[in-house]
Amino acid sequence: MAGTFFDYVIVGASRAGVSCAEGIRSVDSAGSILLVSREDVLPYKRTKLSKELHKNYGDQDFLLHPLQWYEDQKITVYLGAEAVDLAPKIYTLFLADGRKIAYGRLCIASGASPLEIQDHPFLFRYLREKSDGQNIFHKAQEWKHICVAGNGIQGVELAEQFSLMGKQVDLLGPESRPMANRLDPGMSRLVEKTLISHGIKVYNQKGSSAGTDAGDWDGTVASIGVRPAAVWLRDSGINTLSGVIIDTRCRTSEAEIFAAGDVAEPVFPFTSGLWHSAEYQGFTAGVNMAGRDVELEQQPFRLKLDLFDKHFYALWYTPGLEADPGVESRKLPEAPDLEYCRLFRRGNEFVSALYCGDPAIGKTIITPLVRQGAPFDTIVNRIQNRPSD
Ligand SMILES: Cc1cc2nc3c(=O)[nH]c(=O)nc-3n(C[C@H](O)[C@H](O)[C@H](O)COP(=O)(O)OP(=O)(O)OC[C@H]3O[C@@H](n4cnc5c(N)ncnc54)[C@H](O)[C@@H]3O)c2cc1C
Repeated sequence: MAGTFFDYVIVGASRAGVSCAEGIRSVDSAGSILLVSREDVLPYKRTKLSKELHKNYGDQDFLLHPLQWYEDQKITVYLGAEAVDLAPKIYTLFLADGRKIAYGRLCIASGASPLEIQDHPFLFRYLREKSDGQNIFHKAQEWKHICVAGNGIQGVELAEQFSLMGKQVDLLGPESRPMANRLDPGMSRLVEKTLISHGIKVYNQKGSSAGTDAGDWDGTVASIGVRPAAVWLRDSGINTLSGVIIDTRCRTSEAEIFAAGDVAEPVFPFTSGLWHSAEYQGFTAGVNMAGRDVELEQQPFRLKLDLFDKHFYALWYTPGLEADPGVESRKLPEAPDLEYCRLFRRGNEFVSALYCGDPAIGKTIITPLVRQGAPFDTIVNRIQNRPSD
């Protein structure tokens, strides 16, 4: 089949890929851009998949941009097109349907794929793409008692969604408490309490390996983590660990090839695995592909969880902070709009924040102040002296 040339080719059309195209267009209004997507729907807000599942969604729901936007921006989109190989030396991308695409610069933005449970008597389903969610929703109409395996954030959200659909839900996972890698024990317990108060049964330290916890479930869904979707690059010669290694300019080991988002593995301690980090990395990759020289910097991208009627917020928390001798934490008193709040400092430098309460505290106080580089005491004072309703 005849080859085609684009100045810029982006593999993966989700947050990182679309932001990369936006970054390119912010610098270069004329160069030809191709977005290659394995999914057969226009790019959409993936984070909604586990938050809107109980209502189901259609192909046109929560799109990042309408079709017209791609036309206006002169961005060609190949939907249902899977990249299967890349030959950096000849600047060529190969698609599963036999098409060969020649490029000037290329961005790898193929995201991540769910880890799967092997050798289990139950058939587990996984939620990563819109079609997965649509299939799970339809299947769930027949389910009464559902096992959600994996007690990380997505498992917690799925448990909530099935509960909202009126199902009996068991949430089980290997960790000693829900979201143990993302939250401290105090906030984890609050998440657990919230789940239990809505009738969800929580089984911690329950692996999903063969036979250990088979219940009378008629539906089983798992969320036990992800791995960067980099397998298709195995013969490309690009340096990978589990993901594609990038530098602070989103460049890979190969000339003219960049990477961004969940597929990328920054060799520096920047937040990743989050929607906003994929957006930031994608945009940075795009402007650099178009000739600028912009470096990634650490950004205050928070993890948020809206669980039933509660809002949980975590910024830069890792369990390692608990054992760091240079880091101290401070709990703020409970209040009607603040059920839990713990802040971490190194001297007077802000290190991390966790809270459950009014979303405005994160949105209007913590995130903006951290972005401005405010010292710890200033952030604490502003939270304590926040205006009350
Ligand atoms: C259900 C769910 C809920 C989430 N909730 C949150 C949240 O609340 N907050 C948060 O910050 N993050 C959340 N995340 C994580 C967030 O969605 C990801 O960090 C973000 O989507 C990463 O963007 P990306 O563009 O790097 O990759 P992805 O969004 O994974 O997109 C990669 C795209 O590339 C395509 N692709 C893969 N391989 C190929 C190939 N070989 N050829 C062509 N196309 C390919 C995929 O089909 C996909 O469309 C959630 C993720 C999921 C799955």
